[in-house]
Amino acid sequence: MTLRSPLRAALATTALVTFSACSTPAPSAPAAVPPGPAEGEITAARIAAHTKILSSDLFEGRAPATRGGELATTYLATQLALAGLEPGGDNGTYFQQVPIVEATVDRSFSLAVPGRTYKYGDDVVAFSGVEDALVSVRGDVVFVGHGIVAPEQKWNDYAGVDVRGKWVLIMVNDPPAPADEPNLFGGKALTYYGRWTYKFEEAARQGAAGALLIHTDASATYPWQVVQSSWTGTQYSLPPAPGAPALGVKAWIANAAAADLVKRGGHDLDALRAKASARGFSAQPLTVAASATLTQRAARRTSPNVIGVLRGTNDQEAVAFTSHWDHFGTKAAAPGDAATADRIFNGAYDNASGLAAVLTIAQAMTRAGAEPGRSIYFVFTTAEESGLLGSEYFTAHPPLPMAQFAANINIDEANPYGKAKDIALLGSDRSSLGAALAAIAAERGRVVGVDAHPERGYFFRSDHFPFAKAGVPALSLTEPEQFDGPTAATLKAKQAAYNDQDYHQPSDQFDPAWDFSGAADDMQLLAALAWRIAATPAMPSYHDGDQFAQVRKP
Ligand SMILES: [Zn+2]
Repeated sequence: MTLRSPLRAALATTALVTFSACSTPAPSAPAAVPPGPAEGEITAARIAAHTKILSSDLFEGRAPATRGGELATTYLATQLALAGLEPGGDNGTYFQQVPIVEATVDRSFSLAVPGRTYKYGDDVVAFSGVEDALVSVRGDVVFVGHGIVAPEQKWNDYAGVDVRGKWVLIMVNDPPAPADEPNLFGGKALTYYGRWTYKFEEAARQGAAGALLIHTDASATYPWQVVQSSWTGTQYSLPPAPGAPALGVKAWIANAAAADLVKRGGHDLDALRAKASARGFSAQPLTVAASATLTQRAARRTSPNVIGVLRGTNDQEAVAFTSHWDHFGTKAAAPGDAATADRIFNGAYDNASGLAAVLTIAQAMTRAGAEPGRSIYFVFTTAEESGLLGSEYFTAHPPLPMAQFAANINIDEANPYGKAKDIALLGSDRSSLGAALAAIAAERGRVVGVDAHPERGYFFRSDHFPFAKAGVPALSLTEPEQFDGPTAATLKAKQAAYNDQDYHQPSDQFDPAWDFSGAADDMQLLAALAWRIAATPAMPSYHDGDQFAQVRKP
């Protein structure tokens, strides 16, 4: 085989190790050079060039179902074709069309119990899991504690209770870990059972007609105003699969209103919450029925995931890279805006940089001079910013069964500040991918960072997460903590300034001074990691006891 770059020549002498998920490098490795991605093609200049065009004003902020979005997906498909990847979408194209429901709930929404109507906005905020213009839910209310069914924790808040056709009233967050079970529900870390999305999913699986999540500042970690601003106005979702259970009403209820409702149902909310936080709790039916009427304007839109495939010698299994192409588009001019106000959300760092990074990996892999073991999928997802919809759709309509995906590596933002010692990937502590990552990082003199805030549940908030829910060991690149060199403190300050001032703002735009040399190091490492995962016969797996290990258990 040929070596295509000086870098690969250097690696040939320093990085000769045989790889398996958990073994240590063999000291007497053979002298043959294993094929691999042409890492020399992964350069800071290439990443910058793709980032610059994808975040230019021409792309109008890349909102799904807009002209700018169409331009962005056309660019990505063209680049995949130029790199020599096969189309992985519908009907021989690079596009997998994703149906998206765009719904706006009318402010006339009401939730009532005998003697009290809760006020939309102040007491309750609601949306629907179905597309009907008019949705009515009437039924008894059952307090189900944290609303969790977790076999590996031997915890079932729905045991012995039938909630079909009823309302469920649910606490958010995980149950607390007691002194004699310090690791219950991840201890201080947030598990997916604590996330509001899980609560609605489980309530639907149980057949409930409506679900009310109790908001407290402490359990939600944000004030009621955030609930109001996030869940009023237009919401985006995937249409429910035919025959799949769906909630008629999904609502948040303010703590005072929830306490009132429980009192009218013959109980005390604080007393119920205390019981629900310890083992042995059983769901408590309340002696009150509630009724809600929701009217909404719902429309279907379509926006594509863009998918390219590098076919492996084993094309029945795969490794998938993901990176979302969508951002917030262009906002309408508001009264009082200056004529020159920037209204385009360019999304340069979030996530043109990630697209650019994955495009360079795709290019390097097609120049490997050999096929990978498992196939490599490059998936540019739509509608991540509206709730991971493109990734959810891909994992519900995969080109191969999800059990045949060995791993997912998600790139949500590539480091534009400069070289770093560490590379941090959310999820590296959950599966055998962590050991593989640590081995390859060590070969390159890098260190693997850790999730600095497991209590914030970042693992559940980007496009790798639908893969995790489907049982696929997944990693998602996050920010480095340890910049290199004499300007490290300045780089750290730049990173903090972006997070404070530019995140999800029109000012997230391409800066010609950006230095993607650290991103190039990261992408060379991740390309090599994916190549090894693809070549290793054993499938990676979640650690025993991890929530996502359940999916692939017989
Ligand atoms: Zn974002």
